[in-house]
Amino acid sequence: MYQDFKSHLQAELASIEEAGLFKNERIIITPQGAAIRVSDGKEVLNFCANNYLGLSNSPALKEAAKNAIDSHGYGMSSVRFICGTQDLHKQLEAAIAKFFGTEDTILYAACFDANGGLFEPLLTAEDAIISDSLNHASIIDGVRLCKAVRYRYANADMADLEEQLKKAQAQRFRLIVTDGVFSMDGNVAPMDKIYELANKYNAMVMIDESHSAGVVGETGRGVTELFNLRGKFEIITGTLGKAFGGAIGGFTTGKKEIIAMLRQRSRPYLFSNSIPPMVAAAGIKMFEMIDETNDLQDKLHENTKYFVSKMIAAGFDIKPTESAICAVMLYDAKLSQDVANKLLDEGIYVTGFYYPVVPKGEARIRVQISAAHEKEHLDKCIAAFTKVGKELGVI
Ligand SMILES: *Cc1c(COP(=O)(O)O)cnc(C)c1O
Repeated sequence: MYQDFKSHLQAELASIEEAGLFKNERIIITPQGAAIRVSDGKEVLNFCANNYLGLSNSPALKEAAKNAIDSHGYGMSSVRFICGTQDLHKQLEAAIAKFFGTEDTILYAACFDANGGLFEPLLTAEDAIISDSLNHASIIDGVRLCKAVRYRYANADMADLEEQLKKAQAQRFRLIVTDGVFSMDGNVAPMDKIYELANKYNAMVMIDESHSAGVVGETGRGVTELFNLRGKFEIITGTLGKAFGGAIGGFTTGKKEIIAMLRQRSRPYLFSNSIPPMVAAAGIKMFEMIDETNDLQDKLHENTKYFVSKMIAAGFDIKPTESAICAVMLYDAKLSQDVANKLLDEGIYVTGFYYPVVPKGEARIRVQISAAHEKEHLDKCIAAFTKVGKELGVI
């Protein structure tokens, strides 16, 4: 059997490669940070990590993690409800609820699991899910596992959402589902309008704050802070793998009855291991740190504003952004790869995205700003973009 299957896979892999869609992994031999070294020894400035608050190599978080190994051990060897819940897990859940102004939190191994295990335990074929067309893959997969009737609206298009909500009046319960920040453009979901429509058409709302938590809003509390609507939405999901230290872990936070039901019925929670004590302890420390001072959030916001304004002044076409994601539009797929390769020669590590990751003819380079970036890093990046942009006739 395997001979045939092997030939089949080899042909598929070759076609991925021919289409120019083969994903190669660059090997990094340093901790994650603003400056990293790749395996050929070259040092580059990193502008493509989700390390928004620059906490991935934080000395305070590393110390908290090391201490927790001594006090609480290495692994849990259990799911939460059998013998996998330590004081640290409960403290981290409470810290997340405090951060978002919600009632309770349930931890998962990743936000992919939080979203994968969210819908099926809560909604049935009698209900409706109304989902933004650009929602994350994990939301799409989670919705697929649920029998609710599905409606889709164009990205952040409130007229379309209203149309879909009208149709969804046929169902018993309605849940609007949206990312807080959309990862390819960096735009935020219009939560004020979504809130109004949810009230008008009697729907609940779920927000995935993976790219917005720690980033958006004056104190980084996410899109509910930005729109002054803290505590107004039923469900928020998010990750510990981006701004919040970048290790591993996801969560769903919101109304306490919803969280209680997820603890009973959510399959990735019931049938998958607890997060390790060191990750829980470092997470608790991380929420303490960003509660004590707003320095990292302020620096991230300043860095983003500075970078975007200088890039626009240099003549680049930047998608309007309200997050730390800055899409430098190049439109042409090959050009996006050429620019990214030349930037790497200049010591700037960024990624070019093109169809099918973004719509046809909308190829771009996604720059992700971090509080770990110093002004000289940003200036070096802007200068490299300007040089390469001129060489390739972009500006
Ligand atoms: C990154 C991301 C996830 C997945 O988070 P993990 O914790 O890495 O699984 C889910 N949703 C959105 C919107 C994301 O950006």
